[in-house]
Amino acid sequence: MADKVRDPVCGMEVDPNTATEAVEYKGKTYHFCGPSCKEAFEKDPERYLPEESHGCCG
Ligand SMILES: [Zn+2]
Repeated sequence: MADKVRDPVCGMEVDPNTATEAVEYKGKTYHFCGPSCKEAFEKDPERYLPEESHGCCG
């Protein structure tokens, strides 16, 4: 069973085993469908981070 992750920039599902573009940020690895999404993330990571790290009462 494939363990897909979501490209935080475009929302596309990517397979971490085959994705060529990945960035480590704050201890987590994010995978991207291509270099353009990776570059967008690197320019402004906070904009694309999932909500889950914000806790309950932000
Ligand atoms: Zn993408």
